Amino acid sequence: MNRYYLGLNAGGPKISECLFSKGKSQDLRELSEYLAGRYGGTAMLCKNGRSALCLALKAYFDPGDKIIVNGFTCYAVYEAIMEAGMAPVFVDINARDLNFDEKTLEAPWKGAAVHANRIKGIIVQNSLGNPVNMEMVEKFAKKHGLLIVEDLAHSAGVRYPDGREIGTVGVAAALSFGKDKSVNAISGGAVILRDTPKFEVEAPFKAPRLSDHLRARFYPLFCGMCKRLNGIHLGGALMKFFLLVHWVEKSADNKLDLERLPSKFQAKLALSQFKKFRHRGEGKLREFYLVKNRAEVLKKLRDNGYFFDSFWYEKPVSPARYYKEVKFPEKDCPVSVEITKEIINFPKYYSEKELAAAREIIKPYLIGGQND
Ligand SMILES: *Cc1c(COP(=O)(O)O)cnc(C)c1O
Repeated sequence: MNRYYLGLNAGGPKISECLFSKGKSQDLRELSEYLAGRYGGTAMLCKNGRSALCLALKAYFDPGDKIIVNGFTCYAVYEAIMEAGMAPVFVDINARDLNFDEKTLEAPWKGAAVHANRIKGIIVQNSLGNPVNMEMVEKFAKKHGLLIVEDLAHSAGVRYPDGREIGTVGVAAALSFGKDKSVNAISGGAVILRDTPKFEVEAPFKAPRLSDHLRARFYPLFCGMCKRLNGIHLGGALMKFFLLVHWVEKSADNKLDLERLPSKFQAKLALSQFKKFRHRGEGKLREFYLVKNRAEVLKKLRDNGYFFDSFWYEKPVSPARYYKEVKFPEKDCPVSVEITKEIINFPKYYSEKELAAAREIIKPYLIGGQND
């Protein structure tokens, strides 16, 4: 059969029946073996990052458990937690790195402490590729008896301040290969189970849909076309067209599917990107700045041929069209709410020279952010 399960009896994560042993899906096998080696665990390829995260949660937590989440995140994370039958506990972030910190992490245990019972896990997101102080998170997790799951959508290839690679610390790691993520194969993902799971989970086994396969196949070509047109400031318009006709799908609209695999082509694309990560920080996702009068700044940038209008994140849980559904506790996360009104991101596909000129444009409006 074309399935495999995680065998839990042998005293560790172990693939009892391997999907990729038939030689047919060479690219899928190569990627999963590479990931298993790089991160140290059992790797299963998934349709996208949210499916990977959901499998990770199902493997280590009971339904009904509560999971701590960065209060500045993607709907994908919320969806994964809900699909796993668990509940998110959002905690606030700081303006330096857009991550929770020592102070904000303790909030659920303070005051009325309504949340504190049944908090069993914490998802570490390393927002936009800015690493958290993992030693601090580990201490915190130990104190409260929590398991750490690492979400690598923004930070594949990046290291924590103490030098350990992100994805090699928690009980599990979830990778996304979605559009605009640190590894970009338009969609796809993988889950790495590092410690012995509590529950058996079934690995994805279904072939990708033809439409998803074709989208991935043409994606590099479309990106190349947009990049060329950037020279005459039409790249953004062309990408808008591709999105409109669904030849390119936004990562945010990806559907959770625990059964489907990525395509061979996506696996190949992802693997070649992994092999290019050499230096510390290379997988860093987006440079961010906090500005006053954001609408005016964006207009100025547009007037100068830059299209920076899409930023992470426009709401504490983005995209905005799903925000209502989340019932986000805004009063618990005031910094996050404020930052969504001030943030702009510099997309990576502009040249260093172009970005330097853009930094000059925003300088008079700057109230925070980073420049490294
Ligand atoms: C995009 C993203 C994911 C996973 O997204 P998919 O679209 O499902 O691949 C997970 N976590 C964060 C923080 C993200 O931004």
